[in-house]
Amino acid sequence: GLPVVAIVGRPNVGKSTIVNRIIGYRGAVVQDTPGVTRDRVAYPAEWNGRRFTLVDTGGWEVDVAGLDASVAAQAEIAVERADVVILVVDATVGATDTDERVVQMLRRSGKPVILAANKVDSRTQESDAAMLWSLGLGEPYPVSGLHGRGSGDLLDALLEVL
Ligand code: GDP
Ligand code: MG
Repeated sequence: GLPVVAIVGRPNVGKSTIVNRIIGYRGAVVQDTPGVTRDRVAYPAEWNGRRFTLVDTGGWEVDVAGLDASVAAQAEIAVERADVVILVVDATVGATDTDERVVQMLRRSGKPVILAANKVDSRTQESDAAMLWSLGLGEPYPVSGLHGRGSGDLLDALLEVL
């Protein structure tokens, strides 16, 4: 089958918004409230003639009490089934403890990871993205899922490891 790309990250960082941007229509559910993406949902996607399956995640965002643990556990399932992972971090917030836990799990998985620094809506916010070098995943790609800014460079980087 087609290569599988999983999008993981904390609730509300903009995973579904980026998925919508990549697939080009509002098929994924986006909300202000965490907990809206119910399951892992797979979409057909394409960039520069390369087709792949894009998996949005977020079904674990319900149990607020156990949030950190269950984010890591559910992301792990999506990652196991993926060929490449896009980790989305909210550049306006910076790296949180939950982000760090997901990074540890991704490292153990051995899967290639592309780091998307989301919510970089303007050039002046690109320094926020640069802070995310600290996660140790290599270059953070500044993107705005909302406006589309930077998504071409992110997808070019994805194709290099796909
Ligand atoms: P998810 O929980 O990670 O899937 O996050 P969503 O895609 O549902 O987005 C959560 C919130 O962040 C929504 O209010 C989005 O409109 C907002 N958001 C997503 N991407 C961006 C972005 O690039 N810039 C800004 N300013 N807001 C964004
Ligand atoms: Mg979502």
